[in-house]
Amino acid sequence: MNTQKIRLVCGECHTINQFPAERLDDTPICAQCKSHLFSGEPINVNSTNLIRHIENSGIPVLIDFWAPWCGPCLSFAPTFKEMAKIVGNQLRLLKVDTQDNQQTAMDFNIRSIPTLALYRDGEELARTSGAFPLPQLQQWVIQHLTEA
Ligand SMILES: [Zn+2]
Repeated sequence: MNTQKIRLVCGECHTINQFPAERLDDTPICAQCKSHLFSGEPINVNSTNLIRHIENSGIPVLIDFWAPWCGPCLSFAPTFKEMAKIVGNQLRLLKVDTQDNQQTAMDFNIRSIPTLALYRDGEELARTSGAFPLPQLQQWVIQHLTEA
């Protein structure tokens, strides 16, 4: 019997949910606010919620550090959104507005935007800067998840 538990933070109310890993495919719902834990959209997070997601996601996390004044960031946004749709419950996609969260950008040593950072089990696996087309983005994520 598989009793492994998985933790996941709700994208709406940011409550930490815990449920059996085999329930991951059953469109899990937040125990607190009843939102779907997988909305198919990137989740906008502030500094507090970012740490919460990184430390409490039972699946890998991909973070897009961006800013509203950054042209390449804005043109990358639809790609990131499309990625969220494709990955389903395999990957958590977060967006951090570095203009609203400047201290976070400094804490995470973000030097140029967009920057993409990939995390698993609270640890950074890889990061890169620049706006990728979707196939390259997928390839980059898969490469770093499989070699780590
Ligand atoms: Zn919730």
